[in-house]
Amino acid sequence: MTAYDDNNIFAKILRGELPCEKVYEDDHVLAFMDIMPRADGHVLVIPKAKARNILDIAPDDLKNLIAGAQKVAKAVKAGMKAEGLTIQQFSEQAGGQIVFHIHFHILPRWDGVALRPHTGAMAPADDLKTFAAQIRAAF
Ligand code: 5GP
Repeated sequence: MTAYDDNNIFAKILRGELPCEKVYEDDHVLAFMDIMPRADGHVLVIPKAKARNILDIAPDDLKNLIAGAQKVAKAVKAGMKAEGLTIQQFSEQAGGQIVFHIHFHILPRWDGVALRPHTGAMAPADDLKTFAAQIRAAF
């Protein structure tokens, strides 16, 4: 199995070497805005534990991660006044994974509003700040 790479982008965010628009943090997880969001209010939830994806994460770390993801999901739905949620986790390149520190995508959904394609376009920082403030206020 491929080893965890300490220089992946999310490891750098966890160490504070790169910035993020944080919405939640506890002993086990960090949640922050996706900079190329596929929906308004698109949040990523990552464990503080090191793991590439669903295939190598320790079961106890996965329990803590999914518990954190549930907490964040409720705040995303309330803060964004969403009607539903799509939650995604991609494992390995063939599975669509780009960043090799496991994460859950929390995507707020509204009836009739499609997810945007992953174009690589970064969202305006002000939009991310506005949505993050709404979500933080909903915990
Ligand atoms: P995946 O690995 O599940 O395919 O997706 C990685 C996600 O991380 C993408 O949705 C992408 O927009 C997001 N992303 C990539 N680089 C950064 C970054 O530096 N900061 C943040 N906040 N999100 C990122």
